Amino acid sequence: MIEELKKKFEHRDRLVRVLSKNGYFRAVAIKNSNLAAMAQEKHNLDYIPAYFLAKTLAATSMMSAFLIGEERISLEFSGDGAIKHIFAEALQVGECRGFVRFAEEPERRRVVTLSGVIGEGILKVTRILYGEVEPIVGIVPIQKGDISSDVAYYFAQSEQIGSAVILDTDFDENGKIAQSGGIIVQAMPGATQKEIQELEEALAKIESLADDFRNNMQVEEVLRKYLPFDFDVVKKTQVDFFCRCTKEKFLEKLLLLNREEIEDMQKKGQNELACQFCNSKYILDNKDFDNLIGQIKAKQN
Ligand SMILES: [Zn+2]
Repeated sequence: MIEELKKKFEHRDRLVRVLSKNGYFRAVAIKNSNLAAMAQEKHNLDYIPAYFLAKTLAATSMMSAFLIGEERISLEFSGDGAIKHIFAEALQVGECRGFVRFAEEPERRRVVTLSGVIGEGILKVTRILYGEVEPIVGIVPIQKGDISSDVAYYFAQSEQIGSAVILDTDFDENGKIAQSGGIIVQAMPGATQKEIQELEEALAKIESLADDFRNNMQVEEVLRKYLPFDFDVVKKTQVDFFCRCTKEKFLEKLLLLNREEIEDMQKKGQNELACQFCNSKYILDNKDFDNLIGQIKAKQN
């Protein structure tokens, strides 16, 4: 029993952020296998959309590691390909959620090749930070549409930070996500060309992070295996697929509608509310409808 619990604990998804001893490189790595598999299951995704969502979730979680408190970040890919929209949002505390939208919903099972899945379009990065009244938004054109190149390009263009972004996701024989994760390494001002070159050579040797995780390597061990410099661990966080939606929050939003619209929903039997982020379904019963109508009536008086 204890062995089982220990095993479960060891296999939890984790994120580790480190700083090189010389202070010129920062890095973050994640194993998000369970989180990505959960997203695939919740949204009932075939393996290709699940592959792109898993990578976007990994990148977003890693980018949230540079935030503080309840600050959050979202990544949105919008393109003209078979998948027209990929959204992921992560809170620094380790919560992450996301979804994909298809160009044509009935075609969702027919995304069969990796090339041009997202197509031409934009990557929008939104950061909600303490002390900022407005969200900070950066938009760059999609480069390769493989997520990793696009995130690296965003860092270079919008934040002027040279970054290496490595993402890896693989599947079991049933098309379910087996392993997923990634590494981001960033050079700070002061890093020498020689150090950067050593880093590039070291990262080029990475064959498969998924294999490392399958071999039970911990996230920190993976960083020690590949990074060519010594480092201090700055942060370790557990990460989970988590959505803060509740039935109460949906009911609050419905209060913004007028009475006729609510009555119409009730008449037509439109009693199911689905969260776009996590695909949770909430059912409204007659008591919910009566409450809503009563509250809206009270507001109008
Ligand atoms: Zn939700």
